[in-house]
Amino acid sequence: MLGPVILAASRSDRMRRLISAAPVTKQVVDRFIPGETVADIVPIIQDLTAKGLELTMDVVGEDITTPEQATTARDAYLALIDHLEQLRLGEKVEMSVKLSMFGQALDGGHELALANVRPVVEAAAAIGTTVTLDAEDHTTLDSMFAIHEELRKDFPQTGCVIQAYLFRTEADARRLAAAGSRVRLVKGAYKEPAEVAYQQKHEIDKAYVRVLRILMEGEGYPMIGSHDPRLIAIAQELAHKAGRKLDEYEFQMLYGIRGDEHLRLAAEGHRMRVYTAYGTDWYGYFMRRLAEKPANLRFFVRSMITK
Ligand code: FAD
Repeated sequence: MLGPVILAASRSDRMRRLISAAPVTKQVVDRFIPGETVADIVPIIQDLTAKGLELTMDVVGEDITTPEQATTARDAYLALIDHLEQLRLGEKVEMSVKLSMFGQALDGGHELALANVRPVVEAAAAIGTTVTLDAEDHTTLDSMFAIHEELRKDFPQTGCVIQAYLFRTEADARRLAAAGSRVRLVKGAYKEPAEVAYQQKHEIDKAYVRVLRILMEGEGYPMIGSHDPRLIAIAQELAHKAGRKLDEYEFQMLYGIRGDEHLRLAAEGHRMRVYTAYGTDWYGYFMRRLAEKPANLRFFVRSMITK
């Protein structure tokens, strides 16, 4: 029951001000967002890649209110890509972007987001890596998929995310499961109404398996974004049945969640990519992580009280 309440709070400006200003234990936020600057994050990138893991980087931020903030977001990604080039880590590290951070919700936002994300995709391609467009709430998805399609004309490796909890996703998966496409499947992290999304965990899990089957049997490159041990085992089974080799799909998990599992899958020869978020505008990302697991919230509240 707590999850929806926390997700509602994740969109509240008042809660954002309260929680961001609270003496939040750095330790709790750091577990999921292990740095604020490129300088903080570079040692983490080096450590994870040295362990045989790959990464996808999220400069945290979303729901911006001015075009200038969108330009700042674009520049933050460009600076990161510049660092990756100097470190010669381009091939191991891709970018994840939220189009709302690139201006998607502003006036003329679709064009603005496309104009801001294109240079990031170009810069990523120039160092041998790529960008995946994260999926945000359902109202943003038609625009996200249109931008994805547009970017793929010049950069076919550009990936996108689909969310198992949405009724529309099986149809999206069929459209996207074509040669050359890269699609990350996740359960979905936003508070969505019953008109558009499954609400029960068992329904979402079943939908995840249906969509996973479509992706595995298709011709694209599936990216399994989940920490759920049952779904990971099913993904391995479906990949095997579809005759996929280990480099024809990959697993992805979030930094700070089931770290041992990251290493176990990598040691088994799987491609394992760690979604690593950093930056100062961590509120929305952090709240979604709290909503996913009530125990995180208890730990968070305890650390605020004992501070
Ligand atoms: P769950 O059933 O939620 O979790 C399975 C197990 O994993 C839990 O029992 C627990 O042990 C562990 N676990 C899961 N979450 C947490 C947590 N927060 N803290 C501690 N332990 C936890 N969602 C979107 O809507 N759009 C996106 O673009 C998007 N990108 C993502 C990218 C990646 C790489 C991943 C892994 C997730 C992404 N998500 C995204 C979030 C996703 O939708 C889920 O909310 C999240 O992954 C939890 O679902 P789960 O599949 O891990 O299963």
